[in-house]
Amino acid sequence: MSDKEIKEIFETGLFIGRIKFDEPMSAHTSLKIGGPVEIMIFPEDVVSLKNVLVVAKMQKIPVFVLGAGTNLLVRDKGLEGIAISLKAFKKIEVIQDDTEKNVSLFAEAGVLLKSLINFTKERGYSGMEALSGIPGMLGGAVYMNAGSFGTEIMDMLSSIAVISMDGMITMLNREEIKFSYRSSNLPDDLIILSANVALRKDTPDNVSRRAREFLKKKVLTQPLKERSAGCVFKNPAQDSAGRLIDAAGCKGMRLGDAEVSMLHANYFINRGRASSKDFIELMEAVKIKVKEYSGITLEPEIKIIGREK
Ligand SMILES: Cc1cc2nc3c(=O)[nH]c(=O)nc-3n(C[C@H](O)[C@H](O)[C@H](O)COP(=O)(O)OP(=O)(O)OC[C@H]3O[C@@H](n4cnc5c(N)ncnc54)[C@H](O)[C@@H]3O)c2cc1C
Repeated sequence: MSDKEIKEIFETGLFIGRIKFDEPMSAHTSLKIGGPVEIMIFPEDVVSLKNVLVVAKMQKIPVFVLGAGTNLLVRDKGLEGIAISLKAFKKIEVIQDDTEKNVSLFAEAGVLLKSLINFTKERGYSGMEALSGIPGMLGGAVYMNAGSFGTEIMDMLSSIAVISMDGMITMLNREEIKFSYRSSNLPDDLIILSANVALRKDTPDNVSRRAREFLKKKVLTQPLKERSAGCVFKNPAQDSAGRLIDAAGCKGMRLGDAEVSMLHANYFINRGRASSKDFIELMEAVKIKVKEYSGITLEPEIKIIGREK
């Protein structure tokens, strides 16, 4: 299908939003790595999103849903099909604040975790403080079950709304979703639209102070200002991937412009013009060294997507 035909399909249907063709994914990932996606779509509302999904299904075009791209390594050859950005889905509402202790919030998938935490700090709603400093959107955080300092996003979720590739919207209660360490069992053909979050009442000062303390710890131990995708590998049972990578002598290892951070060995940094090839080869080299040192095979935490050839 040509770009013109695709454009026409969306222009004739009910679609509000923007469409870009051959959009470099490097502009949409925190690593600043990644070739172009054929089509990038930024729907403004659920009806437009539904319309995109129905057309994509009809035309058999693969769909990938993008958050803030902070856990992604996109290959240099780019991505086939459509990448959907839910940037415009950023509503936050208090849905219940009438009891002594409990509060319930509704937030759309495109809300940045940082904005949601700021919202809770201003109102003195406690529960999310430990997630301070995790970049990304709420949808990405739920899909990945993002977490920090022993708290995970699943701990505060009460339900989520999802849309299927047929455009069907369903509510899923927390109990219906299986979350584990940095993952959920949500199938790839469901898009998270929003989440309801259950928190507790406290004071703005207390919540802000705790959030600040967690952030301070994170800033001291993780290279938050560099171009990275957070932790590259999952922590194996009973150990930390960062500790193993460090102990295997990999801190500072470099391939092209991809480098193992000196501050936190499980963060790999794009020092300039790193390619996905540099990054993947560095991951392989580190994996081998850790295996030789400890016998443990590290599993990637970051999502690697895109055409291999
Ligand atoms: C500096 C830095 C620090 C970090 N620290 C932490 C940390 O402490 N703890 C931690 O857990 N992570 C951390 N991360 C990793 C990352 O921020 C989290 O995994 C984050 O939750 C990913 O969200 P995102 O919006 O960027 O998702 P993306 O990277 O865009 O996507 C990740 C996955 O989620 C899927 N996805 C995104 N949105 C949706 C949606 N609406 N519906 C369905 N699927 C969706 C994507 O398809 C993809 O498979 C860090 C990253 C960086 C760069």
